[in-house]
Amino acid sequence: MAENNKSLANKKLHTKVGDRVIVISGKDKGKQGNVKSVDTAKGTILVDGVNVVTKAQKANPMAGVQGGLNKVAKPINASKVMICCPSCEKATRVKKVVKDGKKVRVCAKCGEVIDV
Ligand SMILES: [Zn+2]
Repeated sequence: MAENNKSLANKKLHTKVGDRVIVISGKDKGKQGNVKSVDTAKGTILVDGVNVVTKAQKANPMAGVQGGLNKVAKPINASKVMICCPSCEKATRVKKVVKDGKKVRVCAKCGEVIDV
């Protein structure tokens, strides 16, 4: 399975760290947040405030870990989100265009450049 993992690692996702995304399916449908991290190998992204689970943490004084219920955001599949366009405020798909010799992402709806 090692070779399989290798090809997956090169997979590009439509989201990048810092993108504003909107969840389109699952229990967090309609929620918006900023992408905290992207795992291209797994195809998952970590979005601020989305897919938050409460984790019972056992206290471990040796490691300085406090016990109790902690809220942790878990990664979700990147296909469950769409980019939220900063200018038209809508969930949108992005188009890749070349502008001034640079590849940029633009909103498929209003045509505004998403990358700064
Ligand atoms: Zn737009």
